[in-house]
Amino acid sequence: MNLEQTLNEITGKMYGKNIGACTDAQLYTGVLQLTKEKMAETPAITGDKKVYYISMEFLIGKLLSNNLINLGIYEELSDILKKNGKNLADIEEAEPEPSLGNGGLGRLAACFLDSIATLGLPGDGIGLNYHFGLFKQVFKDHLQNAEKNDWIQKDSWLNNTGTKFEVAFGDRKVTSVLYDIDVVGYENGLNKLHLFDIETVDESLVKKGITFDKEAIEKNLTLFLYPDDSDEAGNLLRIYQEYFMVCNGAQLILKEVKEKGYDLHTLPEHVAIQINDTHPTMVIPELIRILTTEEGFTMDEAIDVVSRTCAYTNHTILAEALEKWPLAYIEKVVPQLVPIIKELSNRVAKKYKDEKVQIIDKDKRVHMAHIDIHYGYSVNGVAAIHTEILKQSELNHFYKIYPEKFNNKTNGITFRRWLLSCNHELAAFLTQTIGDGYKKDAEELQKLLEHKDDQAVLDAIYDIKKTKKTELVSYIKEKEGVELNPDSIFDIQVKRLHEYKRQQMNALYIIHKYLEIKGGKKPSTPLTFIFGAKAAPAYVIAQDIIHLLLVMSDIINNDPEVSPYMKLVMVENYNVSYAEKLIPACDISEQISLASKEASGTGNMKFMLNGAVTLGTSDGANVEIHELVGDDNIYIFGQDSDTVIKHYEKADYVSKDYYKKSPVIKEAVDFIVSKEVLKVGKKENLERLYNELLNKDWFMTLLDLEDYIKVKDQAFADYEDQQKWKKMMLVNIAKAGFFSSDRTIAEYNRDIWKLK
Ligand code: PLP
Repeated sequence: MNLEQTLNEITGKMYGKNIGACTDAQLYTGVLQLTKEKMAETPAITGDKKVYYISMEFLIGKLLSNNLINLGIYEELSDILKKNGKNLADIEEAEPEPSLGNGGLGRLAACFLDSIATLGLPGDGIGLNYHFGLFKQVFKDHLQNAEKNDWIQKDSWLNNTGTKFEVAFGDRKVTSVLYDIDVVGYENGLNKLHLFDIETVDESLVKKGITFDKEAIEKNLTLFLYPDDSDEAGNLLRIYQEYFMVCNGAQLILKEVKEKGYDLHTLPEHVAIQINDTHPTMVIPELIRILTTEEGFTMDEAIDVVSRTCAYTNHTILAEALEKWPLAYIEKVVPQLVPIIKELSNRVAKKYKDEKVQIIDKDKRVHMAHIDIHYGYSVNGVAAIHTEILKQSELNHFYKIYPEKFNNKTNGITFRRWLLSCNHELAAFLTQTIGDGYKKDAEELQKLLEHKDDQAVLDAIYDIKKTKKTELVSYIKEKEGVELNPDSIFDIQVKRLHEYKRQQMNALYIIHKYLEIKGGKKPSTPLTFIFGAKAAPAYVIAQDIIHLLLVMSDIINNDPEVSPYMKLVMVENYNVSYAEKLIPACDISEQISLASKEASGTGNMKFMLNGAVTLGTSDGANVEIHELVGDDNIYIFGQDSDTVIKHYEKADYVSKDYYKKSPVIKEAVDFIVSKEVLKVGKKENLERLYNELLNKDWFMTLLDLEDYIKVKDQAFADYEDQQKWKKMMLVNIAKAGFFSSDRTIAEYNRDIWKLK
């Protein structure tokens, strides 16, 4: 049976209709079923050794388009649907986006699963099946509201495996259920994403917004990703979730190893466990506990075997993000791990006197990262500069003890999603120009450089950008009700909202530009500023920054004097699907974190690959982008990481000094609490933000603001020279190959996992 017959048969059985008579939503479920059948026919990837990527988050995005591309049937199906009067893009819209991640770390995990399967490596993900996941963002009265994200439908990618495990906590026992999502590699075999859930979960526990009874563990365990942890119950719930994930994960891993007939003493020869950030750290003591209490290992043997199996990825140097759980909390949730953690801690204390490397500190808090570093065999950072900072400052005390464990793995992105799927036009044009070798070997994108003086190629790239901008304009009109000008410059900052990422600095630039236009200085090409960002519900200043952006967009877009020259829109509920529409339409990619604070970033790579030019600081992977494209094809500004780190060490940064010294800075900051803004916005939020910037500014917004304004204005001026801009676009696309996650995963495998 051909594909069309199969699909007709499926829709016939499901709805009693043929393809042409189905609605888009019905066709989505039909195509979902068809794709799942095709995936079930795909052979599993097997081998002697397997990696388990364990992570609290997998920000996988919608799966239909990607799976069709990886199965090699996207074009065929698209043609079949067209023939029947349907459009695959409309059908893709009907798919709900899984809400299983939060930001870069979770998206990285998703890109990695794609690349692991594409490279034909045996490797599964292990995580949790959150029913409402990360909250859905809704704007009301210029403020962010959080609502539950009800993404799981009757027909979905989730397959109930029937596998169940018992998980014992100190005060209760629960039973898990395992759901799998198939992960198909690009023209390769099948791996799995294993998502654990709890049988007794009760969605009706959530009454209003995202509030629920945090103590009803049996009912709430897998409702939300990162539930509010501003109180003790919230902290305990996070530990319940983390232990639930690792206890299930450990049981699954050991079960699979035993089923293959391997002796558990040879675990490191058959398994590598990659611990994504500190959240899954308890997998180390949990495995040691199982091996010593159930498998007859001595403590020495278990520690040795587990230490040679587990590897840790560090994602941040922000101290508040490195988990330190009070021992008393762990005692309450999982008392069975406490003797193991104490044993691990005592062994360290006996060997090393340095306070900074202890697992349990004087205040009886357990430093999760320290468990990973002492009892894992690899510690990696996620961009060259980040790994250097870990080695030389943040984790220097550990680096001195274990220099051989430290290594860098610069992040990457899957080109299947972030080029082939989100930008069909550019992918097709690249194939036509340089062949399709780049789809398997991303470095082949460099062939594009041979065309850097070819006018037809330069024009085509520019035209594709215009097409994607025009598509985005209609999408934003429909979703946000704002009319944008596709002939304006699209300047985009989309990522989680955090002070270190400095959306507030971008907002101050926008205020500056608004005041300039009001004063009669109009930009030659109109400017469009786009933001997308969720803020953690308990993060007050982040909410205030969103408030400022929403208020400013109201003021700017409704000012007839200004809006022909400048528009500002903050899109609601930024997620992977939105990213796939925004990134191909971007001219200038805002990557403006305070140097030393962004471990890597991956948004920066996606923008570059789609022909945007980066405006950024020397931070994270921006540094490597800069090296690859050269000074002429990127806009770098601001203080470097050494200078910033020294400011922190000496505690000598005083934001008010910058405010007093610079009339431009003063004017922009003061505008936040001007009559004009207070008329639209809320006094409490705006004053709080104003005071924060003047009196604290922990992430040094005002340090770089003047340079930012200067360099950003230069970028806008350069855009006027179309020829110059087109060449910059071309170089950025051509040099993006290094950032393929296929390269990253090949390095993980070569240096850490060593799978065949
Ligand atoms: N959120 C979403 C939906 C993403 O797709 C990405 C990466 O592209 C991120 C967050 C991370 O963005 P950044 O690396 O800019 O912080």
